[in-house]
Amino acid sequence: MSTSSPERGALQNKSALLVGVGGLGCPAALALVEAGVGRLVLCDDDRVEESNLHRQILFSEADVGHDKLVAAERALYRAGARPGSIELVHSRLLPENARALVRGVDVVLEGADNFATKFLCADACFLEQRSVVHGAAVRLCATVLCVAAIGAPCYRCLFEDLPTGASPNCAEAGVLGPVVGFAGALMADRALSVLLGDNSVYGALVSYDAKADRARELQLLARAHCALCSSERSIDRITYDRYTAPSCAA
Ligand SMILES: [Zn+2]
Repeated sequence: MSTSSPERGALQNKSALLVGVGGLGCPAALALVEAGVGRLVLCDDDRVEESNLHRQILFSEADVGHDKLVAAERALYRAGARPGSIELVHSRLLPENARALVRGVDVVLEGADNFATKFLCADACFLEQRSVVHGAAVRLCATVLCVAAIGAPCYRCLFEDLPTGASPNCAEAGVLGPVVGFAGALMADRALSVLLGDNSVYGALVSYDAKADRARELQLLARAHCALCSSERSIDRITYDRYTAPSCAA
């Protein structure tokens, strides 16, 4: 979405949390800065690796081996972020910090590289009534789902629970740079819609298949017995044992 001057003014008072500053978080953060979002909170605990560079567009060869958040912050200020508008959380999203982190912003962008973090983020956002944009990209496919602050339909309506077997993450399965760039930019677009009060994006699931060069959008339906967002919900707090699973996607 392009932003007009009044919209840029409105966005100056808004904030966003990026869970994961990788292939999805890098283009998303850049787009949010360019749009004029007033405060960005970046959450990650990784270092830049050479194999990241083709898809993590905030980093250069000089950043390899260095703290990802420090490199991202430097790149975002170079791109025009207002002084003091970037906050760094040198940690993964964890059961002990998830609710406080999502509570502190207006919208959450989840571009994590594992299912445990994705489900933790979904649950924390529901419990704290924060809108969240989930993104994932593996090989030639990407998906983006925007969930309303009221919580339905939610990530658990799409993927009921953590997979029980091992799933490949993008470091193992590979991902095409433009695919992840498309998904990250779309995540930012959806987050901007949320921040500007456009309710039409909630429940919209976009899938992109680079091999067929086709993007499809469909409206996700709420799962009748969803453990998170239905009247029968069983998840009413964050517990450690719910988020233990092998690594998966991004
Ligand atoms: Zn649900």
